[in-house]
Amino acid sequence: MEEGLIIKSTGSWHTVKTGNKIIKCKIKGKFRIKGITTTNPVTVGDIVNYKVIADNRDIGIITNIKKRKNYIIRKAPNFSKEAHLIASNIDQAFLMFTLEFPKTPLEFVDRFLVTSEAYHIPAIILINKIDLYNKNVLVKLSTVKKDYINAGYKCYEISAVKGTNIDQVRNLMKNKISVISGNSGVGKSALINAIDKKLNTKVAEISSYHKIGKHTTAYSEMYQLENGGYIIDTPGIKGFGLIDFKKNEIGLFFPEIFKLSKYCQYYNCSHTHEPDCEVKKAVEKGKLSLSRYKSYINILNEDKSKYRIE
Ligand code: GDP
Ligand code: ZN
Repeated sequence: MEEGLIIKSTGSWHTVKTGNKIIKCKIKGKFRIKGITTTNPVTVGDIVNYKVIADNRDIGIITNIKKRKNYIIRKAPNFSKEAHLIASNIDQAFLMFTLEFPKTPLEFVDRFLVTSEAYHIPAIILINKIDLYNKNVLVKLSTVKKDYINAGYKCYEISAVKGTNIDQVRNLMKNKISVISGNSGVGKSALINAIDKKLNTKVAEISSYHKIGKHTTAYSEMYQLENGGYIIDTPGIKGFGLIDFKKNEIGLFFPEIFKLSKYCQYYNCSHTHEPDCEVKKAVEKGKLSLSRYKSYINILNEDKSKYRIE
C-alpha cells in the first residue's frame, strides 16, 4: 500500500504525489465526514493510501483517506445542503489585506480570523502595498499591526511589488501547506509571483479561469514552491468557506478576549453589560483594541442565522 498527498482533485480523478511520482487515482468505496454530506470525497491536502493498477503504473485506486487535522468547506453551488470540501491539512492561512488601494474594513479581517480560529488553522496577517501609504496611513498601519500582534497573530507589513519583507513570508511557507486569502485586488497574485516566479503563470491561468463562472464547481489545486512548501489556490473564495458556531463561542475565537475572560466575574460573561467585566475594563484602559472589541460586538449582535460566516 502506497501513501501520497492529493495535489489536485477534479471530479472523479485525483492527482496523488508520492516523492517525485505522480499517480492519477480514482476512488473506491464511500468516505464520509461525520455530520456533513460533501459533494466530493477527497480534496487537496488529503493524505491517502492507494494501490497502483499493475498494468498501468501511473494509475491507481484510493483505498483510504487519513484522518484530517483540519479542513475547509463551502456550500455546494447546487442549492442543496451539501458542502464542498475545498482543502484539508492546512498548516497556516495567510490573510492579506490593504489599508488603502483598496481599503479593507477591519471587521472583514476579524471575521476571517474568527473563522480561522474556529477551523483550527493558524492565521498570519499580511498588510500589503505599504509602498503606497502616506504618513497618515503609516500611523494607522502601526496601530493596526500592534492590535493584531497583541491579539497573538504574526503580522507583517509587505510590498509584493517592491519585494519588502517577502523573504520572511517565503521562509514562513517553507515545508508547510498554506492558503492565501484576501479580497480581490489586494495583491495575492503579486505575492505569489514575488515568492516564486515559476508559479505565477500557472496560478494566474487558474484564477482567471475561475472568474468565468461564479457558480460552477471549482476545484482547488496545490502548487509546490522551490523551498518545499505548498500554496493552495482556493478558487473564488475571499475568506474560507463557511462555519457554524454558537453565540457563546465567539469570545473563544478572539484570543485576547478569551485570555481576559478568565478573569471576568461571571462564567459565561458576554463582555457586554456585566459588571466587573475584564474585557470592558481593558477596552476602557486602552489595553484591548476598540476596533477588535467592536468586531466582537457586531458578530455577537448578529442574527443567529448569520453566525455562519462565509
Ligand atoms: P489579487 O486580486 O489579490 O490577486 O491582486 P493582484 O496581485 O492582481 O494585484 C492587484 C493590483 O495591485 C495589481 O495592479 C498589482 O500590480 C498591484 N499591487 C499588488 N501588490 C502591490 C504592492 O505591494 N504595491 C503596489 N504599489 N501595487 C501592488
Ligand atoms: Zn467579561
